[in-house]
This record gives sequence, structure tokens and C-alpha cells, in this order.
Amino acid sequence: MARILIVEDEERIASFVAKGLRAEGHLTRTVADGREGLDHALSGDFDLVVLDIGLPTMDGFAVLEHLRAQGSRVPVIVLTARDSVGDTVSALEGGADDYMPKPFRFAELVARVRLRLRQDQRVTVPREDVIESGGVRLDVRTRRAVVGQREVDLSAREFALAEIFMVNAGQVLSREQLLDHVWGMDFDPGSNVVDVYVGYLRRKFGPEAIATVRGMGYRFNR
Ligand code: CA
Repeated sequence: MARILIVEDEERIASFVAKGLRAEGHLTRTVADGREGLDHALSGDFDLVVLDIGLPTMDGFAVLEHLRAQGSRVPVIVLTARDSVGDTVSALEGGADDYMPKPFRFAELVARVRLRLRQDQRVTVPREDVIESGGVRLDVRTRRAVVGQREVDLSAREFALAEIFMVNAGQVLSREQLLDHVWGMDFDPGSNVVDVYVGYLRRKFGPEAIATVRGMGYRFNR
């Protein structure tokens, strides 16, 4: 499982890519704006970035340039229109790890994502150890959680659930996704274990931390 940031302003493409990558078992976060995409990419919360070129506020080239200038080595796969592949390739020198001309087949993208993630495992890329969202601070290395100024105890499952929520803060996660990532396959999909644990986290993080999205799942509030 990898945490993948998708920076793409075309909703149709973004949701197609996100859906497909989630089906592959990855966690995804989608943003539609270049500047916001850069902030997220720099956060260290992601293992890979899928980056569009034509974006509002800051184009993909500038995002990439800033990202590398600030020392980030996160793998980046650039999505580019087929007729501008030439420009893209020259502009990407030294910046992107790969590019995909649009339109592309999903299988192609998945193959490249796999390749990038595999290569990435060979070199140890330092990852952010602290995730912070909605007034909660999780230290992934020490497994400590701090709410406001107060340290709270989390069990291993609670910590894993909090982590997946916070990496995807603001996005709705389905019970199936949560069950799959935190408990693996040992639980039957009809189990209410997710709801029970969301209840535990609400008690520890405050009732507003996690919203119920009727018919869809849960969302961690940033
Ligand atoms: Ca675009």
C-alpha cells in the first residue's frame, strides 16, 4: 500500500485515476490546484505524486521545480497531453521520474506506479514522521498521539485507523477501505468493527474529529 497524491484539475481524470489506484490497494488524495498540490507533495505524507501539467494557480512544471528545489525526492509521474510530449520531456529534465501522455490506459499507469514504488524502495527516502491534522498530532515513529496539548493513548488498531484517516483528512473513506487497510481480510465486511473503533477515536479526539457521511463512510475533519 502506498500513499499517492493526485494533482489533477480535470475531475473525470482525477476520479478515474483515484478509483483505479484505490482498487489497487493504495491510499489516494486528490487536489485540483497546483499550489495546493505543491504543499501536499512537500508534506512528506506521500510516497508518489501523479501530477498534471495544466493546473490552476501554478502549473505542473513549476510545481515540480519547486518540489525539487526544496529537496523533495518523492517520485513524480507527470500526466501530459499527447501533442506536447516533446515540450514536456525537455522541461522535465532532472525533475520528473516518468510521464504519461493523455489519454492513457489505466493498466499503463498502474505499471508505472508499480515500477516507481519498487525503485523507490531501493533507496531509503526519508518520510515525514509526524502527521498533523484537525488539532491532532500523530508521531508515526514513536506511535504517540497528541490532541491539543494532551497526550492520548491509542491501541495499535486505533493508531492505524487514525493514521489512515489523517493521511486522507477531508476525504470520505468507506467502511470497506478502512476495514481492508486496518484489519486486513480477517473481518467479514458485515462486521461493525469499523464503527466501534470510530467511536473510540471520537472519544479520544473529540466528537467533531470524524464525520459520518451517510451511505458512504467517514471523513476525518481537517
Ligand atoms: Ca489540467
